[in-house]
Amino acid sequence: MNKYIIFFLLQCATTLLIGQYVSNVSLPDKNKPVVKDNTDLSYRYAHSIEASSLRDHLRILASDSLEGRETGQLGMELAADYIIKTIRNMGVMRFPACPDYYQSIEFTYSKWLDNDIHVNKERFRYMWDYLAFTGKNESKSLVVANEIVFLGYGIDDPKYSDYKKMDVEDKVIMINRGEPLKKDGKSYITGDTLLSVWSDKDLDKKLLTAKSKGVKLVLIIENDIKKMFEENRSKLLGTQLELGNTKNNIFQYPNHVFISSTIAKSIIGQNEEKILKARKKMEKGKAESVVLPSELIINLTKDVKVLEGKNVIGYMPGKSKKDEYIIVSAHYDHLGKRGDDVFNGADDNGSGSSTLLEMAQACQQAVMEGNRPERSIVFIWFCGEEKGLLGSEYFTNFPVFPLNQTMVNVNVDMVGRIDEKYKDNPDYIYVIGSDRLSSELHKINEDVNQKYTQLTLDYTYNAEEDPNKFYYRSDHYNFAKNGIPIIFYFNGTHPDYHRPTDDIEKINFDTMASRGKLIFHTVWELANRADRIVVDKIIK
Ligand SMILES: [Zn+2]
Repeated sequence: MNKYIIFFLLQCATTLLIGQYVSNVSLPDKNKPVVKDNTDLSYRYAHSIEASSLRDHLRILASDSLEGRETGQLGMELAADYIIKTIRNMGVMRFPACPDYYQSIEFTYSKWLDNDIHVNKERFRYMWDYLAFTGKNESKSLVVANEIVFLGYGIDDPKYSDYKKMDVEDKVIMINRGEPLKKDGKSYITGDTLLSVWSDKDLDKKLLTAKSKGVKLVLIIENDIKKMFEENRSKLLGTQLELGNTKNNIFQYPNHVFISSTIAKSIIGQNEEKILKARKKMEKGKAESVVLPSELIINLTKDVKVLEGKNVIGYMPGKSKKDEYIIVSAHYDHLGKRGDDVFNGADDNGSGSSTLLEMAQACQQAVMEGNRPERSIVFIWFCGEEKGLLGSEYFTNFPVFPLNQTMVNVNVDMVGRIDEKYKDNPDYIYVIGSDRLSSELHKINEDVNQKYTQLTLDYTYNAEEDPNKFYYRSDHYNFAKNGIPIIFYFNGTHPDYHRPTDDIEKINFDTMASRGKLIFHTVWELANRADRIVVDKIIK
C-alpha cells in the first residue's frame, strides 16, 4: 500500500479519533511526478488558466470605477455587465430560466438617515452609546417621552412577570437582558440552571411581548455595547439589505434600541435608590418596576428603497448526465464606498470572480474541442454575500433547476493573497468543508492535487471548533444547509480584509493561477467521473 494511501487512512483515523472533521495540513508527496501531458484533458484545459488573464479580469473588477461592487448599487451593475459580457463572448450559454444571464432578486435596502438620542438634553452618539438595526425598526422621527418605565427583564411569564399591574401602552420601557436567577444560579422561571426563552440572545419573546402590550419603544440595556458593535459591525455600518420587498411590511417588534449603561445611568438619574431596591426584589424573584421621570428624544429616520440584485449565471449542459449539476460559485459583490473610500475587494472576492471567469473559458475551450464534460456545470457569481449570504440564500430558495440535482457546490472566496502563516511558502490553499458531507469529495480533491498541482492543502479552518467559523461564512453554506456536498477554497485572512486597502497591487497572480488550476482539476473530475458522489455523512 503506497505511502500516500497509508497517509490518507491515517488522516481519516485521526479525524475519527480527534474531531469530527479533518483539520491538519496535508502535504503532497513531492517525490511523485506531476502530470504535464496535453493528452490528459484535465491538464490541457487547466493549463489555459493564466495569471495574465486573471489580472486582466481583476483590473476591471477591482477598479475604482466599479465603486466596490455593492449589491443593488451601480458598482454591482457594472460588475454584472462585465461578467455577463465576458461569458457571452466566450460562448457560454445562458440558463433557459435566465434569458439575460442573471437571476433577478428583489432586495429592500434600508439605511439610517438620521438617528440620535437626547436624554435630559444630553446627546448620545450612535454606535458608541447605542445601537439599532435598520431592518428591525420602523422609520420614526422624533419620539419624545417624559417618563421611562424601568420594567426589570421585560418578562411576562406565569412564574414571573414584570408586566403584572403595569400599563405600558404607548410607553417607553427600559429592560435588562436575561431573567431572574436565584443565588445558586437557577432560574426562577425554569427552576433550573438551563435558562428560559426569555434569555434568548435575539430577544424575540421579550420584543413580541412588548409589542402585544402596545409598548412604543424598548430600550435594552447592553452591558458591553462595544462587543455587540464588533459582533454586528457589517450589519450596523453602511446599508442593510433584506431579501424581498419588505418596504410595507408590518414590523413584528416595537422599535427597540440597545443602550449602554451610560445612557441607562443618565435615564435613572437621581432614582438610583429605587432601581437598586427593585433589583434586590428581582433577585428574590419578585418583579418590581420603576417609573423614571426623564426626558427622552429619539430620532430613528430611515431611507428605505427596493433594489435589484443579480446572480449572474453561466451554463454548460453536460453530455450524458445533463441533470446532474456541478455548481461552481464565487460572490462578486463587495462593500461599496464609504465616503471617499472605495472598498475595491481585489481579494474579496474579485479574485474568486476572476478565477471563475478563467475556469469558464477553460471549460468552454473543452466544449469547443468536442470534449464537453459529462455532467452539467453551472457557474454562479452571487451578489448579496457581504449582506449575509443573501444571493445564495435566494438561489437555494428559488433554484433555476431542482436543487436536489446538484451533485456538489465548489465555492471560491478569496484566493489571491498569501497569509502570514505561508509568507515563505505561497503554494498552499485552505480547504474547508470537503469532508463534511462526502468523504469521496475530500479524496477527489486530495488525489487531483497530488496528481497535478501538489499544493499544500491546509484544513486548519475546517475544524468544527475553529473560532473563525469560516465554514458558515460564505455562499457554500447555503448549499451545505440543504445537504449538498461542498468544497470551499480560501487563502486565509490578511490585514486588508474588509478594508479599502484590499487592492490589486497585493494580489499574487501566479499563486492565484495555480489555485485556479487545482479547483479546475477537481471540477473536471467531478464533472466526468462515472458515479455521482454520495453523501455519506450527516450535516451537524
Ligand atoms: Zn468574501
